Amino acid sequence: MVMMWEHARSFLLGALAVVLLQKAVYILSPQIGQPDVPIRRSRDEDGSDDPSTYSVIIVGAGAAGLSLAGRLERAGISYVVFEKDEPGSAWENRYDRLHLHTVRGISELPYWRFPDWTPTFVSRSFLAKYYRAYAAFHNVKTHTEEYTSGKEFEGKRVLVVGFGNSGSEMALDLWEWGAQPTVLVRSPIHMLPRSLTRVFGHMYDVMRPLPPWVHDSGRDLIYSLVWGDLTPYNISLKKTGFVTDIVVHHKAPVQDIGTMALIKKGEIAVIKHEIDHIDGNTVHFADGSTGTFDHILLATGFKHNTGPYSRFLPSDVVAQLPNEHNVVSSGQEVPHQKRLYMLGFNDYMGRLAEINRESAHIVKDIVAKKYV
Ligand SMILES: Cc1cc2nc3c(=O)[nH]c(=O)nc-3n(C[C@H](O)[C@H](O)[C@H](O)COP(=O)(O)OP(=O)(O)OC[C@H]3O[C@@H](n4cnc5c(N)ncnc54)[C@H](O)[C@@H]3O)c2cc1C
Repeated sequence: MVMMWEHARSFLLGALAVVLLQKAVYILSPQIGQPDVPIRRSRDEDGSDDPSTYSVIIVGAGAAGLSLAGRLERAGISYVVFEKDEPGSAWENRYDRLHLHTVRGISELPYWRFPDWTPTFVSRSFLAKYYRAYAAFHNVKTHTEEYTSGKEFEGKRVLVVGFGNSGSEMALDLWEWGAQPTVLVRSPIHMLPRSLTRVFGHMYDVMRPLPPWVHDSGRDLIYSLVWGDLTPYNISLKKTGFVTDIVVHHKAPVQDIGTMALIKKGEIAVIKHEIDHIDGNTVHFADGSTGTFDHILLATGFKHNTGPYSRFLPSDVVAQLPNEHNVVSSGQEVPHQKRLYMLGFNDYMGRLAEINRESAHIVKDIVAKKYV
C-alpha cells in the first residue's frame, strides 16, 4: 500500500510538472490567436467559382476543411472550400447533449479563439455556430447520427450497441430521461474519467516526442486507482497502453462523464456478448441468452476511414490511403499522389487538435514544394 501510494505520488507530481510546463508553452504559443489582422480575401479577383482558378481546392467545410482554409487565408494562398451541406453540419445533426471530450484550448480553429465565456468542454450547438461563423469569413461554397435526445425513450427498454464516447454518453442521456438503458460492450475498451482530461488535457503535447511505452507505463496504476476491477460489471479494460492505441490504431479512449458510476450502481446494465439475431423485440446473444428491448440504438462508430472521399477519389488512390494499421495517414502529401493531402485522421490529442497542427504542416509543405 505504501509503495503504491509512493508510486502514485511521484506520478502525480511528475504529471503536475508537465501540466504546468505545457500551460506555459500554450500561453506563450503564437499558433492560435484572435483574428487580429484583417482577414484577406483569397477569392480570385473576378469572383469566379471555377475551381481551376484557385491554388487549393478543399472538399468539406468541417473542422479539417475550415482549419486549412484559415491557414491558407493567412498565408495569402488562394483556395476554395466546397461543402455539400452547411459548414459544421456534422455537429448540427448530432445528439443534443453532446459536448466535446477534448478541452477547448486544443479544439479551436486557427487564429480564432473560442470566447472566454465558453466552458472547458464546448457544446455541439456552440461548435456548429462557431464553424458557420468561421466559414462566413472564408471562401466556402455550399450548395448518429439520427439520435438527438433520450427524451423520446422515456420508460422504454433500450439496447445501446457500442461503448465508445457516443454509446456511453447516449446510455447516460437515456437514463437521465427515464429510459432503462442496457449497453453492449463487446470488446475490451480504454476509458478515463473526463475529470482527468480537464486537468491533463494539454499535457500530451509536451509528452508527444516520448516513445509510447513511456506514456503507457502509467496505465496499470491509473486504472487500478481510478476504476479498480471492472470484470464484475462485464467490462474489460484493454491490456495495451491507451496512448499506443491512439497513436497506432487512432482509437481514442472513452471519456467517462458519469456512465460508469451508473453501471456500478446497477442503473445501466452491461452485456458483453455479440448479437446473434433479433426476433421481434427479443435479442438473442451469442452466448444463448436473450433480452427484450423496445429500441436498439447503434453507436458502433462514425466511419472515418472509409469516408465520403471514396466517392470522388479514384479507387486506386483510395486503396493507397490506409497505412499498415489500416488507418489513413494524414497531414502530409499522399505518397505517390502529388498535390493530394488528407487531413483529420489522427487522434493523438483529439482530432480537432491534430487538425489544427496538420493544417499548418500542409500549408508549409505546399509552399516549400512551390505548388502555389
Ligand atoms: C460524436 C463525436 C464526438 C467527437 N468529439 C470530439 C472531441 O471531443 N474532440 C476532438 O478532437 N474530436 C472529436 N471528434 C472527432 C472530430 O469531430 C472529427 O475528427 C472532426 O469533426 C473531423 O472534421 P472533418 O472536417 O474531417 O469532418 P466533418 O466534421 O465530418 O466534416 C466533413 C464535411 O465535409 C462535407 N462533405 C463530405 N463529402 C463531401 C463532398 N463530396 N463534397 C462536399 N462536401 C462534402 C460534409 O458535409 C461535412 O460538412 C468527435 C467526433 C464525433 C463523431
